Parts: sequence; C-alpha cells; structure tokens
Amino acid sequence: MDLYEYQARDLFEKYGVPVLKGIVATSPAQAEQAAAKLGGTVVVKAQVKVGGRGKAGGVKLAHSPQEASEAADAILGLNIKGHTVRRVMVAEGADIAEEYYFSILLDRTKRRYLAMLSREGGVEIEKLAEERPEALIRRNFSPLDGMTDTLAREMAEEAGFPEDDVKKLIPVFKKLYEAYTGEDATLVEVNPLVKTKSGEILALDGKMSLDGNASFRHPEHAELEDHSAADPLELKAQKMGLNYVKLDGDVGVIGNGAGLVMSTLDVVAYAGEEFAGSPKPANFLDIGGGANAEVMANGLEVILGDSQVKSVFVNVFGGITACDEVAKGIVQAYRILESDGIEPKPLVVRLDGNNAEEGRKILDDANLPGLQREDTMDDAARTAAELASQAGHNN
Ligand code: GDP
Ligand code: MN
Repeated sequence: MDLYEYQARDLFEKYGVPVLKGIVATSPAQAEQAAAKLGGTVVVKAQVKVGGRGKAGGVKLAHSPQEASEAADAILGLNIKGHTVRRVMVAEGADIAEEYYFSILLDRTKRRYLAMLSREGGVEIEKLAEERPEALIRRNFSPLDGMTDTLAREMAEEAGFPEDDVKKLIPVFKKLYEAYTGEDATLVEVNPLVKTKSGEILALDGKMSLDGNASFRHPEHAELEDHSAADPLELKAQKMGLNYVKLDGDVGVIGNGAGLVMSTLDVVAYAGEEFAGSPKPANFLDIGGGANAEVMANGLEVILGDSQVKSVFVNVFGGITACDEVAKGIVQAYRILESDGIEPKPLVVRLDGNNAEEGRKILDDANLPGLQREDTMDDAARTAAELASQAGHNN
C-alpha cells in the first residue's frame, strides 16, 4: 500500500526523522486556518499518490493565511497525472539551501535492501539515474546488518558530502531505516531531503509503501487505507475477504484458484467477440480452494450487485474441494440470495474435476431458475457471453 505524503510525514515523525509540521485540509477555508496556526510562510501541497506535483502546479508557497487559501483553491480539484486532488497538506515552509535524495527499498532480485543517495535531489530520480548514474550512490545491504553508522558514513562520503554534513546525515539515514523496518515498509523515499540555510537536515517530501503481507503485524495500518478512491464493490468484497477486482464488462466471473480465474477472463473475452456488443468479463473473483456455500453466496452477491453484469459464469475445477461440495454450495447460495431478496441473473456453471458427475447431478436435480450447466470451459464461456449479449450490452 502506497501512502500519501502526509501519512509518511506522520510516520517519519514517529521515528524521530526531522520533518516540518503539516496539517491536512480539504477546503480553502481549512487551509487558511492551518496556515494561521502554523504561522509564517507555508507550503500548500497536493496530496496525490504520484510524483512531480511541483511541476504540475501542485506545490505552492504562501506567505499569509489568505495566500494559503488561494493556493488551496487553485490546487484542490487539480488533475495531476490522472489523480484528482481532494486534499492538500499545509506545511511549514523551509528555507532551502540544498536538495538531496535518499531512499531505502527492497531489492528482490538481490535479496537485499537497497539504499540510494544523491546530492542532486528534488529532481526526478529515474532521470538522474539514467543521465548521470555516477551521481546516484547505490548500496545493497543485508537486513541482518541494517543501516549501520559505517554504511551511512560510507554512502555520504562517497556521495561527496563534507564531513560537517556527513555527521548530520548519519542519524537521519538510521532513523529512516528504523521507520522502514519498524513499519514493515518496502520503500521509504525522501526527495528532497534538504539542508536549510541554517544548516538543518529535513525530510521535506516523503514517500512510503507498506508491505501488505505484514499487515497482520500492524492493525493500525488499516486506518491508512484510502477508501475514497476504491470501488464500492471492491470494498464490499474486501470486507467479505474475497479476492475481487472490478473490470468493465458484462459477464461476471467466479472461479476457484487465481490461475483458473485469469484464464477464464481470457476465454470469456475471446468467446465474447462472436456476439453483438462483444461482451467482456465484468470482474476477477477467486473464491479459493475451500469454496463453501457462504463464500459462493458472498461471491454471487458481490457480482450481482454490479449493475453492469448481465450473466454470470461460475467456473470450478474440483480439487481438494470436490465438485459435489461446490454444487451444494451453489444450491445453498441460491437460497441465501433468495432470502436476502437479491435478483438472480442468468448463471452458467461448469463443473469439472474431482466428483464432477456427482456435482452435475446435484445441480440438475435442484433445477435452479436461470441456471444452465455446461461441461467444458469453452462452451460455458460461449453460453455466458451469448446470454450477456442477448440481455443487452453497455457499450
Ligand atoms: P513533488 O514535486 O511531488 O516531488 O513535490 P515536493 O514536495 O518534492 O516539492 C517539489 C519542490 O518544491 C521541492 O523540490 C522544493 O524545491 C519545493 N519545495 C517543497 N517544499 C518547500 C518549502 O518548504 N520551501 C521551499 N522554498 N520550497 C519547497
Ligand atoms: Mn518530491
């Protein structure tokens, strides 16, 4: 999960990384109040999860609360590289003498951490790495060693910092490393890390990505999640613990196992080309191995909640969970949906693998309204696409 700058700022502060005060505002009036509270010159900064805000007009200096209000008015609603600005951070202004770059990230290919440092910060680092790679110091290091004084010093010296600055930078690098490991991050980036005219080192713009695999260790990270940007169906699925991704088509897809679901998307898209409106998959939904009735009902509920969906394709290959279990799950899911008053849509089921015959028989005997059974994935995809096409398409 990528964090907003203000969230990274808060976490930096928690670990003692030198940062300036910042207050989030969602309106010009709030920005004005924040500027009055902070006093002096402030910076109004667009909060979007994308770099290059400065160049796009998303970072403005303001010398009074009135100016901060005007800056916020100009920045809120801006579209920066496809991201609409809904929030700004009003931060204390820094008197910048020099801008540097520092980051720590997970280097998966080397199975090490990677720290990078440059005296030429504030610019796009990808560009610097390409045009003047010698200006970007890169050091891989082991998590067992961590960011030691020696490593921090070597990097700063190699980057060409004078001893005075080296001494000030070492503790900052170490605290950023503590934030990186303490929060189970995969990236901590400061661009620019600045030296002020009075010689202070400050992290002026921070970026952090947290490792979702470690979220069980950080219940507090759940609050950092940005629900305003997510699709409501994806949110609902997430709360139900389903692996669901909303797509833009008309054929709802449910399968067991990510690989099977991905190939189902391809097969549906291909089959759809034959029919009017070229129906396409409406979603990715993997109900996993132990596909019981409740999971099936939850999955169907999410998919049927998508008004774009015209038909649903349930593609199950029985493995550890045998097809008869899955079939019982589908029958029960129908009952659950019926009692919840959820309107069914044409449903095509393909069951294959372990106990396929028993499973098919259960479905046939149940005689569920709108349910059609096909024996192969291709036939089922074709039928589902055809049904969606007949029901009228969206494009
Ligand atoms: P980015 O463009 O999205 O990376 O946004 P940054 O937060 O890095 O800001 C871009 C640039 O604005 C920085 O490189 C600085 O040159 C400038 N800037 C940001 N904050 C301040 C500040 O407090 N004072 C001054 N004078 N300049 C700032
Ligand atoms: Mn920046």
